[in-house]
Amino acid sequence: MAIIGVLKEPDGENRVAILPEIAAQLVKMNFKVLIESTAGSKAFASDEDYKAQGAEIGDKANVLSSSDIILRINSLTKDEITKLKNGCVAIAIFHPFFSADTVQLLLEQKVTAFSLETIPRTTRAQSMDILSSQATASGYKAVLLAAVNLPKFFPMFMTAAGSITPAKVLILGAGVAGLQAIATARKLGSVVEAFDTRSAVKEEVNSLGAKFVEVEGAKDDKAAGGYAVEQSEEFKEKQKQVIHDHAVKSDVIITTAQIPGRKAPVLITGKTVKEMKKGSVIIDLAASTGGNCELTKNDETIEVNGVKIIGSSFLPSTIPSDSSKMFGKNVFTFLKLILKDGNINLNFDDDLVKGTCITHNGEIVNEKLRASAPVKKEDTK
Ligand code: NAD
Repeated sequence: MAIIGVLKEPDGENRVAILPEIAAQLVKMNFKVLIESTAGSKAFASDEDYKAQGAEIGDKANVLSSSDIILRINSLTKDEITKLKNGCVAIAIFHPFFSADTVQLLLEQKVTAFSLETIPRTTRAQSMDILSSQATASGYKAVLLAAVNLPKFFPMFMTAAGSITPAKVLILGAGVAGLQAIATARKLGSVVEAFDTRSAVKEEVNSLGAKFVEVEGAKDDKAAGGYAVEQSEEFKEKQKQVIHDHAVKSDVIITTAQIPGRKAPVLITGKTVKEMKKGSVIIDLAASTGGNCELTKNDETIEVNGVKIIGSSFLPSTIPSDSSKMFGKNVFTFLKLILKDGNINLNFDDDLVKGTCITHNGEIVNEKLRASAPVKKEDTK
């Protein structure tokens, strides 16, 4: 009987890779589920809750040395990787394009590592897409964070004490997080505009009650599997000007623009921030990959000329119950691809298995990773 182990997340992370309800399903599928003690406590799942579903509880050393499959949300440390059981399958978000050292160690230790954020974006993969599920949490929470930091109301009010105009919100990047941010900002009664290089999202933006900001001449590469592609210098200049004109009139800007495997595009310059209204708020969800605002500092809140810039890529962790629930469901659906009759069954002919696997038997499997020399995380700053 193969053992599926769940590691506790690093300090500061409140989520857990699977909640007890998913542990129960794995137990039913004839796996032994071993949870590192207190792994779920910050997501309100106690050791007792896991045990009640048939899982066992162990300490870190025990989970690392005996698990055939290891699950975690955040990447494993070097120390943890060296302590994995021989031939272990490790599933986490490894950020392989930014973590050359981790990839190297996974190769040396011959770990079969699946990095869930690299799953190909196909219809079949939708239920396993952790980027989408966690982006839903980010987009929602970004708006709430903006609302509590804004010195104004979001909705319009007509009161005996006078009229309040609604807040103006600009969303940059209308992917999963951006669309959720639009929906949440609209529910709070603000006036919303959104911009994306993929003009295909215009209809979705409009249907959520927001105005789509047009910039002509964007490269919209349909071959990139729903992702954005790097734009020409001429387009970037035009885009900066249009965004500047809309930004200076906004009370809140939520930026979500990402290009997979690359540094996030700079959409808000320092000059724009200096001309924005005092009291306005920027929530930069691309902070961990360099930020969409030139002045963003990852995991910090700074104030420039009265404009608050909150750089955060960890908002899903602030909604730990539901973010873990969605993450766990994604992982469980993915696990079903690589498990059969109580054992591990890796089929590299399956595009989702092949696309998500970064290392196996001392070799890089993911084609994009093989083609690109991984860069160190500091290089993205
Ligand atoms: P993402 O997090 O990689 O990027 C967020 C958004 O930023 C994207 O919409 C992107 O177009 C935009 N962006 C990039 N550069 C920009 C720039 N310079 N200016 C403005 N915007 C810029 O993307 P995401 O939200 O994870 O997904 C993007 C799209 O992929 C989704 O809307 C969806 O249609 C598709 N998708 C498909 C699947 C699937 O089929 N399995 C899963 C998830 C998403």
